Amino acid sequence: MAKFVVVALVVGLVLWLMFGRRGRRVPPAATPKRRGPEDMLTCAHCGVHLPRSEALVAGGRAYCSAAHRDAGPRVDG
Ligand SMILES: [Zn+2]
Repeated sequence: MAKFVVVALVVGLVLWLMFGRRGRRVPPAATPKRRGPEDMLTCAHCGVHLPRSEALVAGGRAYCSAAHRDAGPRVDG
């Protein structure tokens, strides 16, 4: 009778290892989202750096403010 209990325990342990563990799967590592520093753009007029979310983009160029956007890219020389 004692042997039967041991066998039952072993079988139960094996079943637990096979099926019990599978239930709690570790979620796969989330794909790294772009949470790092934001893209930095440069104002085409004054050259100041600012995050993309704060930049005003017009004509494919970034500006730091509406005034500089209206002024347009600075032309040196
Ligand atoms: Zn500017």
